[in-house]
Amino acid sequence: MTAATATRARRSTRNARPAWMDEPATASQVATLRKHAPRKVLPAGMAAELAAKLADGSMTKGDAKLFLDILFDASTPWKPRPAAANPVTEAGMYRNAAGEVYRVQAGRQGERRLYAKLLVITELDAEETDGEGPRFTARFDYANGAIYRLTADDRMTTEQARAIGHDFRICCQCAAVLTDPASIDAGIGPVCAGKI
Ligand SMILES: [Zn+2]
Repeated sequence: MTAATATRARRSTRNARPAWMDEPATASQVATLRKHAPRKVLPAGMAAELAAKLADGSMTKGDAKLFLDILFDASTPWKPRPAAANPVTEAGMYRNAAGEVYRVQAGRQGERRLYAKLLVITELDAEETDGEGPRFTARFDYANGAIYRLTADDRMTTEQARAIGHDFRICCQCAAVLTDPASIDAGIGPVCAGKI
């Protein structure tokens, strides 16, 4: 055996396919592939091979590792989100069919991208309230992706938003608790009312 042949032999041993790669893929690998593969743009040949191996259950750990590496590689592009039939294009208050209320607002620095925050109203326990005091607290929680599930038809009028503010004694714009009777009547606090 020449020196070169010996080197090649060692290299081929080192590069030999480990036995685990031929074991069946784990349920977790298969679930991850099923969940994420439809969301990315895969090379055509790979997409077909992946679909076939998922369909006939022939996926090995080696296959799964290769597919997952490509799937989560930063250079593998995401598919564009399917556009809502009637997307939200304006900031404002929205209420969906389930009755959830959202505030849609623009990102910082004049970005055109809009995002939605869910209005979360909490009823206070009787012990926490004293007679005429506030009965509810509220806050807006960032709701990841909600902007894509709302439609322009969900837009509330100013009167509808103020009615919610009035009913729960919160400012319909910033969710602050209202105590001043005139503000409760209006459903909005003086600072927010001044901005409209
Ligand atoms: Zn306010």
